[in-house]
Amino acid sequence: MTLRRLPETVVNRIAAGEVIERPASAVKELVENSVDAGATRIDVVVRDGGRTLISVTDDGAGMTAGELELAIERHATSKLADDDLEHITTFGFRGEALPSIGAVSRLTITSRPRGADSAWSVTVEGGRKGMVQPASHPVGTRVEVRDLFYATPARLKFLKAASTEMTHAVEAVNRLAMAHSGVGFGLGDGARTPIKLPAVSGDPLEARLCRLGAIMGRDFADNAVPILAEREGSRLGGYAGLPTLNRRTATSQYLFVNGRPVRDRLLYGAVRGAYQGLLASDRHPMVVLFLEVPPEALDVNVHPMKTEVRFRDVGLVRGLIVGALKHALAEAGHQASTTVAHAALGAVRAGGGLPAYVGGARAWSGTYGGGAPTRPGGLAEEAAAFHRPLTNLDMSPAARMEPMDPGAAEPDRDHPLGVARAQLHGTYVVAQTADGIVIVDQHAAHERLTHERISKALTEGGVARQGLLIPEVVELDDAAAARIVSRAAELEELGLLVEPFGSGAVVVREVPALLGGVDAKGLIHDLADDLAECDEALALKDRLGEVCATMACHGSVRAGRRLTAEEMNALLREMEVTPHAGQCSHGRPTYVELKLADIERLFGRR
Ligand code: ADP
Ligand code: MG
Repeated sequence: MTLRRLPETVVNRIAAGEVIERPASAVKELVENSVDAGATRIDVVVRDGGRTLISVTDDGAGMTAGELELAIERHATSKLADDDLEHITTFGFRGEALPSIGAVSRLTITSRPRGADSAWSVTVEGGRKGMVQPASHPVGTRVEVRDLFYATPARLKFLKAASTEMTHAVEAVNRLAMAHSGVGFGLGDGARTPIKLPAVSGDPLEARLCRLGAIMGRDFADNAVPILAEREGSRLGGYAGLPTLNRRTATSQYLFVNGRPVRDRLLYGAVRGAYQGLLASDRHPMVVLFLEVPPEALDVNVHPMKTEVRFRDVGLVRGLIVGALKHALAEAGHQASTTVAHAALGAVRAGGGLPAYVGGARAWSGTYGGGAPTRPGGLAEEAAAFHRPLTNLDMSPAARMEPMDPGAAEPDRDHPLGVARAQLHGTYVVAQTADGIVIVDQHAAHERLTHERISKALTEGGVARQGLLIPEVVELDDAAAARIVSRAAELEELGLLVEPFGSGAVVVREVPALLGGVDAKGLIHDLADDLAECDEALALKDRLGEVCATMACHGSVRAGRRLTAEEMNALLREMEVTPHAGQCSHGRPTYVELKLADIERLFGRR
């Protein structure tokens, strides 16, 4: 065995294996360098998924001939001024990206610093460094990477289809673009330009929302609530999608720590925790969160790719995220996303595309400072004439409407969910609002209200119980009865007093007062089923969503029950003041709102 020092080319190839996993990692490193160099415009070209060419051009600070020579040296960086790993404020600091890329590709860097009247260029091929030579280039830097991984065939073999690699590259640039709305970004492959993001200036929060909308889509910009919170020197900003705007995967969750895109288990977990009880476990919210922590409270030097970080105070960070998201979502009150109405309209308009966004789901929302009312009077009055019951029409029973008092209150802007006009199919409450109609799924809404009431009562020290006149004995099988009895103390906290009753049966003595008349037998059977699926170690409070849903199912406002006008209006008023009332515990909407403008479109009146 001969012990020897590895040649630099080999060392750099080893480093490249860690830093440059695929073309997108090279794109990320180069774009980060451009941001670090203070660029206001960054253009990326990716050919064949990055296999034949990646080029990144910026208008940043540029490099002198001497700096160019150093930049391709391993561990040469301009970013650790005082050798201080505790206070990193740039993307780079390891001085690894350029030499690593140069070790596995044909790399050319051309650059001209501000104030210089000529440019310089240097090439590295498979680790062999060329001489710095005069070149022509405007102020800024262009880095071209050709034949990535030609020098490491093993890695080359692992590249996926060009389209897949392109998707990763687009994702990498989008992530950086989210955090830097003041920088313009472009990315193309010669034929298509998947990223065209002009720099956005102006109010930083608005600029950010504008940039996020351009990347995440209009739905997100329209249906996300702003986040702003601070705790012990750490700050959280960004936007959180309403729970009804949910996705099948967590890929629409973007997290940044001090401007750096990270994929961090702790942070994803905190987001999940904040939406708990608002979304089914297999649905994921859309969020973009920017966490700013003091540099010394953070270690970014965990992994060469720098996508992982460590926090000094994990509890603080988790608490900040969960608290801020919960608060903002509760503030959003009963809002359900406009996407729900759009989807409904799309389905109604046979073959037609979705109508253009007509604004307004937020028109009444205090959170957004209110918007201009969409067409008061006029059509609203015409529509109002409709609610007079058509008593001379013989309607089939299924479609029969409960006639309402024609003199009932007129809807106004203080009641965004409007005035109940009818109940259809014993299931849907139809209400007239100042500028549209709202259709409420009474069952889903009641389930949500029950959930919120029980959560509130729990935090305030207990759920009020109501004794049953005649205690109800419920027969179950032995195992089911045992499950109920073993949870009796927890159920009592939730307002349900049950005791064992011989073998295979329990007796229900008291029920949560807020359920109204309850079908105790059905409730106990369903709870026993719930408990069978429930992890023994998990407290019922942590599964409050499911338990409340089950309770609400057996409470008085079920689907199929006729409601009086007072009951319907009471339901609407309570929804308006209840946090999260816009969706059930699984993230499905409890109501759909159609604006008059939408309805007019439906009839081609617009
Ligand atoms: P790091 O970013 O960790 O410092 P890199 O290998 O990515 O390491 O870059 C090395 C150095 O080259 C940087 O510190 C910077 O001084 C210089 N550099 C790289 N890219 C650019 C650029 N686009 N504009 C100006 N300087 C750059
Ligand atoms: Mg770098």
